[in-house]
Amino acid sequence: MMQMRDALGRPLHDLRISVTDRCNFRCVYCMPREAFGRDFAFLDRAQLLTFEEIARLARIFVAHGVEKIRLTGGEPMLRRNLESLIAMLASIDGLRDLAMTTNGVLLTREKARALAGAGLKRISISLDSLDDATFKASTDSTFSVDDVLRAIDVAADAGLAPVKVDAVLKRGMNDDGIIPLARRFRGTGHIVRFIEYMDVGNTNAWRMNEVVPGREVVATIAKEWPLEPVEPAYFGEVAERWRYVDGAGEVGIITSVTQPFCGSCTRARLSAAGELFTCLFASNGRDLRTLIRAGASDEEISNVIGSVWRTRDDRYSELRTEVTRAHKVEMSHIGG
Ligand code: SAM
Repeated sequence: MMQMRDALGRPLHDLRISVTDRCNFRCVYCMPREAFGRDFAFLDRAQLLTFEEIARLARIFVAHGVEKIRLTGGEPMLRRNLESLIAMLASIDGLRDLAMTTNGVLLTREKARALAGAGLKRISISLDSLDDATFKASTDSTFSVDDVLRAIDVAADAGLAPVKVDAVLKRGMNDDGIIPLARRFRGTGHIVRFIEYMDVGNTNAWRMNEVVPGREVVATIAKEWPLEPVEPAYFGEVAERWRYVDGAGEVGIITSVTQPFCGSCTRARLSAAGELFTCLFASNGRDLRTLIRAGASDEEISNVIGSVWRTRDDRYSELRTEVTRAHKVEMSHIGG
């Protein structure tokens, strides 16, 4: 197969699929309750891609070179019978990796086993703080840190290890929790990754001075436990990896604001409504759902995906200035 490249020479390797725009959290930096309250018009069922539609599109993406798929949202576990979608995706020839990002609170032991049994290979679980008050404030929810810690355990027990534990840092909100998070997961085999707060969407009132630079995170941890860099596992790996010199495992930083990695971005994103986005910070996506529902053949859909990718020239994070651009798609819609 000829490797397809975009206008800046980047191949297509990863597909993130949002399976719902709904979430059971209202994280202040993602879905603030003022903007995503009772009156917010979430997608209705008919607007969501069905599992069959998702699997059909995924197969076409894999034929275009996609090797990794990650399910996300909104909160992907709000979609019922997710394991049946996992099973459909896991059976696609040529797909090498199948992962999911979740807040974990709906992940029971049975569900974790069902997902792993259906073919889910890896899981990232978001956890911004080990302090209950901070966690409740940042997620604006009534769930507790223990709900998430339990999810991390059952995921690992089900074979979804190493579990990635993702923490978004926002200055003044939870940046005093770096050491506690590092300490809690050192030596467990799980990998904490600290994510820079990004200006996704239009509702979080992002300010550059609220970003905690990844460099600072590494320096903070290294003062307590010396760290050394780990070579990236593959081209386009998002997290910069660091290893504890004493052998207690790894941590990562995701520095999309202070050290953007657009040059190696190989990701396409499919929204829950079936739009194809070529950047997390895009304003518009290409509507594939209408195409599918109008009876388009695989070849026609494949051609559209090919032409969207070949003309892709997004590199928002490299162009970002102190001031964020307006009218970006919301992360809960496009999938984080
Ligand atoms: N609900 C799932 C979860 O909590 O992991 C999946 C979707 S969520 C949008 C995916 C990830 O994006 C989470 O780790 C979340 O913290 C992160 N995220 C959301 N808004 C962000 C922002 N403004 N900057 C950085 N990361 C963000």
